[in-house]
Amino acid sequence: MVDEFIYEPRVAYFSMEIALRNEIPTYAGGLGILAGDTMRSAADLGLPMVAVSLVSRAGYFHQQLDIQGRQVDQPDPWEPSMWARSLEAKVAVPIERRLVWISAWLYVLESQWGTRQPVLLLDTDLPENAPEDRQITHCLYGGDEAYRLKQEIVLGIGGVRLLHALGFEVRQYHMNEGHSALLGVELLRRNAYSPEDLRPGDSHYDIPVVRDQCRFTTHTPVEAGHDRFSYELVARTLGADFIELDTLKHLAGEGDLNMTRLALNLSEYVNGVAERHAEISRKMFPGYRVHAITNGVHPFTWTSESLRQLYNQYIPSWCHEPELLVRADGAIPDAQLWNAHVQAKQQLLDYIRSSTGAALDARVPLLGFARRMTAYKRPDLLFNDLQRLKAIGLRHPFAVVMAGKAHPHDEGGKRLIEIVHGCLQGIGDVIQAVYLPNYDFALARLLVAGSDVWLNTPLPPLEASGTSGMKAAFNGVPNLSVLDGWWVEGCIEGATGWAVQSTGVADNDAHSLYEKLQESVLPLYYAEDRSGWIKVMKGAISKNASYFNSHRMMRRYATEAYLR
Ligand SMILES: *Cc1c(COP(=O)(O)O)cnc(C)c1O
Repeated sequence: MVDEFIYEPRVAYFSMEIALRNEIPTYAGGLGILAGDTMRSAADLGLPMVAVSLVSRAGYFHQQLDIQGRQVDQPDPWEPSMWARSLEAKVAVPIERRLVWISAWLYVLESQWGTRQPVLLLDTDLPENAPEDRQITHCLYGGDEAYRLKQEIVLGIGGVRLLHALGFEVRQYHMNEGHSALLGVELLRRNAYSPEDLRPGDSHYDIPVVRDQCRFTTHTPVEAGHDRFSYELVARTLGADFIELDTLKHLAGEGDLNMTRLALNLSEYVNGVAERHAEISRKMFPGYRVHAITNGVHPFTWTSESLRQLYNQYIPSWCHEPELLVRADGAIPDAQLWNAHVQAKQQLLDYIRSSTGAALDARVPLLGFARRMTAYKRPDLLFNDLQRLKAIGLRHPFAVVMAGKAHPHDEGGKRLIEIVHGCLQGIGDVIQAVYLPNYDFALARLLVAGSDVWLNTPLPPLEASGTSGMKAAFNGVPNLSVLDGWWVEGCIEGATGWAVQSTGVADNDAHSLYEKLQESVLPLYYAEDRSGWIKVMKGAISKNASYFNSHRMMRRYATEAYLR
């Protein structure tokens, strides 16, 4: 079944999560969406790749919210056989002195033009495994540290073994974040010197050869965000003789096994996901050369149907050459762009009405905010001063739509959803506001296209890139955002959207946000002549979408990372 994919060497792209389609809940947020967009663009561009991830049969979770905004996590299982084919090959990895067997599902990602890319979803739920081990690939980001380490052994070590067993010729291994860094350890074992060739003190492994095969994209601008495991846990789980401990400590840190260090030390090419993020990463990891390839989103996937039709008419090859969207300013008639947006907005308003009962006024500008609910994203910043916010809404009416899940272990994130609920109720007499449950792929598509302004208020420098704002740009929806991540590169004040100045102090940042809303964004929306607003919509398309797309991103990975 993999025959059609093994005739040419491929780049193996390893990711703990990947968003393939809405029915397959093997992703939690931006990292998984990026992995999916990476493979979608690789398919469009004909770059030979193979993705490796976990099958996550139990999914991430389905979010329900009670009336107070308390999150209730429901299981979100899926049935792999409905979407993927089970492969016969099996490999084993050592876990707690047992052999754990791994097989894979082949999901074939097909582009609009029929080009295909293989995605392998690793699965330990096999009759030959102990009941406990059958669960290893069930829950995405679930369980404790030991569970996570087992998943990372399966992903990194099992993934390399399975690719070989299936006959893939791998030209490079690309780690999307550090979760898969144990793949480097497996490659070291495959590039070990025989003892008689060694002099005392020599490394037992050909590290340069392994480095030559590995590429690493880091995503996390805080030390605490990187996976670390104690060597005691590693010895207990993987075994003490899997790899020489001195070598492992040399590569992954003396104190504990730091997956990011391991990936950094075993990769010839390392990059951050935006210019600003690469700078931060260079400071975090002195001595490493960290390049920057700014993220992008997949053009076709993130553009609403009405905008697709508009682009097809006026910029026919936009899907393959999104650079052509630079022509949007002159090529697309204002009235048609506005109508296409109104259609996308109406779709969102219909969805809001059917799912919550709230009938939002289509004439009022809609601020959209949807992302993982966690402290650094500051979903509560908009509500810093409810009286002031209401005063703004009395002068220039606007509505707010929000969505987002908090990780089941992130108590702070869950608390934020409750706080936001309280605030939405608090402003309800003046500002129409809703919180939509269960933010996922499909809901994201509706929200980024149907909002009038896309809001983002992270605490700098913690937003490595952010991608939902790029999706908005493809739909002619301008961003109002704190200058962090991609927006540092994307914002041209008043031309592609607006910057919120951030000092990191909530009161100050909220002040800047309110000022921008009141003085710039809302007056422009309500101006008698709509052409000023449409000009900014076009700016988002011509200056943001034309660049912040995953075709450009993958062309750069190909030339700068893979072909070096
Ligand atoms: C795009 C997307 C994200 C990431 O958005 P950010 O702006 O990077 O936070 C998260 N979840 C879903 C469902 C998405 O579509």
